[in-house]
Amino acid sequence: MVDLHSQYEKIQPQIDKKVIDVIRSSAFINGPEVKSFQKELEEYLQVKHVIPCGNGTDALQIAMMGLGLEQGDEIITADFTFAATVEVIAILKLTPILVDVEKDTFNMDIEALKKVITPKTKAIVPVHLFGQCANMEAILKVAKEHNLYVIEDTAQAIGADYTFSDGTVKKAGTIGNVGTTSFFPSKNLGCYGDGGAIFTNDDDLAHVIRGMVNHGMYKRYYHDVIGVNSRLDSMQAAVLRIKLPYLDDYCKARLEAANYYNEAFAECDQITSPVTSDFTTHVFHQYTLKLKNVDRNALNKYLLEKGIPNAIYYPVPLHLQKAYADSRYKEENFKITNELVETVISLPIHTELEKEQQDIIVKTILEFIKTN
Ligand SMILES: *Cc1c(COP(=O)(O)O)cnc(C)c1O
Repeated sequence: MVDLHSQYEKIQPQIDKKVIDVIRSSAFINGPEVKSFQKELEEYLQVKHVIPCGNGTDALQIAMMGLGLEQGDEIITADFTFAATVEVIAILKLTPILVDVEKDTFNMDIEALKKVITPKTKAIVPVHLFGQCANMEAILKVAKEHNLYVIEDTAQAIGADYTFSDGTVKKAGTIGNVGTTSFFPSKNLGCYGDGGAIFTNDDDLAHVIRGMVNHGMYKRYYHDVIGVNSRLDSMQAAVLRIKLPYLDDYCKARLEAANYYNEAFAECDQITSPVTSDFTTHVFHQYTLKLKNVDRNALNKYLLEKGIPNAIYYPVPLHLQKAYADSRYKEENFKITNELVETVISLPIHTELEKEQQDIIVKTILEFIKTN
């Protein structure tokens, strides 16, 4: 699905040198590379505070801890996402409330969101799924009306721009009270191991979170709050510092590949290409098609047999996962997610994808659809 090796080859001399420098410096944890990366990412995102941490899942958990969410608080998130989002809600003994998504963008449905708000609701966690922003203006409005926090899960959309109706443009993850991301190798800004970060413009929250990632210490060996150990190591920060200046080019390469697929599938009635909302750019973490009257699982198998990578993101809605099933959930409230899990298929998309490769992928898919 991704070609990390070819991407590495293009920056190999810089990476190899920097990684060896870090080893020679012996500053493996919290070294100058981490500080510099933090500054450079703050600059790129135009956000006051970036707090690096161990991974994207930790980032979500720490953001929720930092906001002081407590047992019994209801946290609303989308039914159609990677499980990390709901997992941390459950781990913190908060109450996850899952809502359906929009059929075109796969992001949180605003009407569904409004319906599940109760006096116990404390936060909304929009996930900018597959690389485009959820409807943040509508989400912020709901949050304001009900005095709720907004935590943006930006693991799949770092670099995406959100345009407000007054023309203001903000980077994904810097719009709500707090944003989180992941630097997992296959993410749009990936390191060579695990990594993550939390973003906020709130000085007090940033201070609380900076201690929380480091055992709740604000002064060495004085533990003021319950924290965790979640660090971005210097080697990963060094890799990210080299890759960050290429992030916009990486996003552009993905967009071009997506447009090329879109054109190739335009004539096929059985395929719906990804739809991008007007208020957001799309950084195409995934390129996900919706199929109509096509045996999706057979196509998935056929492509794999032909050596063409593809994946089902996601095959089971969160509300039906064993770990998160709950008798309160009613199937009629998850019509779109229930349909998507049966009809979507994601194709290879990455910064090194070549038109010739895409031509083969497209041809194989169209042939399958014609003959089945
Ligand atoms: C990848 C991902 C995460 C978790 O990131 P890790 O770094 O793997 O912990 C969280 N949310 C979403 C939507 C993701 O895609």
